[in-house]
Amino acid sequence: MGGPITKNGPAPLTRPETPALEFGHAWDYAPAPEAIDHVRIEPRQQLFIGGAFRAPRSGKHFDTVSPSTEQKLAEVAEADERDVDDAVQSARRAYDRYWSKMPGSERAKYVFRIARALQEKARELAIVESMDGGKPIKESRDVDLPLAAAHFFYHAGWADKLDYAFHGRSWRPLGVAGQIIPWNFPLLMAAWKVAPALACGNTVVLKPAETTPLTALMLARIVEEAELPPGVVNVITGAGATGAALAAHPGVDKVAFTGSTEVGKRIQRAVAGSKKKLTLELGGKAANIVFADAPIDQAIEGIVNGIYFNQGHVCCAGSRLLVEESVHDLVVRKLRDRIATLRVGDPLDKNTDVGAINSRMQLDKIRELVAAGEEEGAQRFSAPCPLPSKGYWFSPTFFTGVAQSSRIAREEIFGPVLSVLTFRTPDEAIEKANNTMYGLSAGIWSDKGAKIFWMAQRLKAGVVWGNTYNKFDPSSPFGGYKESGFGREGGRHGLAAYTEVA
Ligand code: NDP
Repeated sequence: MGGPITKNGPAPLTRPETPALEFGHAWDYAPAPEAIDHVRIEPRQQLFIGGAFRAPRSGKHFDTVSPSTEQKLAEVAEADERDVDDAVQSARRAYDRYWSKMPGSERAKYVFRIARALQEKARELAIVESMDGGKPIKESRDVDLPLAAAHFFYHAGWADKLDYAFHGRSWRPLGVAGQIIPWNFPLLMAAWKVAPALACGNTVVLKPAETTPLTALMLARIVEEAELPPGVVNVITGAGATGAALAAHPGVDKVAFTGSTEVGKRIQRAVAGSKKKLTLELGGKAANIVFADAPIDQAIEGIVNGIYFNQGHVCCAGSRLLVEESVHDLVVRKLRDRIATLRVGDPLDKNTDVGAINSRMQLDKIRELVAAGEEEGAQRFSAPCPLPSKGYWFSPTFFTGVAQSSRIAREEIFGPVLSVLTFRTPDEAIEKANNTMYGLSAGIWSDKGAKIFWMAQRLKAGVVWGNTYNKFDPSSPFGGYKESGFGREGGRHGLAAYTEVA
């Protein structure tokens, strides 16, 4: 199986006539679409402010479309500055009247209720997440939903134990948290933000991304059903201007942002000189480092998971593969064979591995960077998979012969595109891995535990995975170095981001 390795390196990276891993008909999957007849998406969605859904003062709504079909799913309210002000004031009232006065053991019950409701409605939420954002149902069902519920369960556990979280030091909540989240993990990012804020006694105003607002609004419905006091959680939808108004609002005590480094810098400028606390979780260009002594077949699965999971729309994606030179050809051949078997298509089909690109804009950005890679002389291989005619799609792709200075080695592509580079020594691997403005995550593949620890200590990355990739747990802090941002989410460290510790 697999193409030959010549003495000049791997066979040319062109589209093979047939995939090298040929299973005949044994691996032909019949369509397995998730039933969606029980899911009803409200055609017109409003803002959730002060415990009730209401029309925006702006009077405006915008469409949210399915990136896999280009069909409109719903109209969503666009919050303007007055709506943002209403939401912040309602969060302030809820903070003063109820939430800051409530014992932690009571807050815990509400947070726990949200966690249970997420589990109960997991199927519906996973379907809407896949429809609105394009991610495969097996990922929204098996990753996003369980992790979102786990974040609420975990933080429900902390709510009455915060006196033990800071080594005997006293703490207090910050007040109103303005939280702005991206489109790659809409419900999960909402959970990462809302759960710790509530557990620590803050109230929140959440602004989901323009292209994926639906599951955040379903979370608002859950908050309503869980009978949280009105205004403890507010969800306002809109585009960048809504987020900017929220970050700049003087009534906000804490801004938490996940998204692009460019917007993160804008937010940092907007809050500079104010009393607001800020955490930023921004972009990444992570190195996934494969040593010659690694279990190569497992590493291939880790590489695939690292870059093709969620269409590569992952801030911590292993988008730069650093391979020890002696196994480069072997790894490239196996990777090429493996990605030729990935199934790209309908996000609602349970067999789909790679879904739709989140938006037309993101697809254009991926195409632009891939064209830049080709112009700069790197060799491209794209999996020979058929793509649906409607919707936004991009085949799993990797480039070999990538220079460190190349745009595809430096810029966050945020799509299913991997850049392959080589190294000869651990020192060289460290130098190349750290040669980036980012520092969010990294992966190391080796059968030597000591080597993994030695590397991990020298990598400037907030999260380092050893012989695995993209593993998340609510008890494990996540966050970056350098232009990947600051502050941590998850674990005891994440509680510090929502408290003032004296
Ligand atoms: P953004 O950083 O623009 O979006 C993140 C969130 O911020 C969204 O809710 C967005 O709203 C909001 N926002 C936009 N402008 C402002 C502003 N001036 N003030 C406050 N909030 C604002 O990401 P994009 O969607 O534009 O994606 C661009 C690139 O960013 C991607 O190609 C990718 O490379 C990277 N990215 C990285 C992410 C990460 O987790 N590291 C996540 C998402 C994107 P709205 O969606 O309505 O514009």
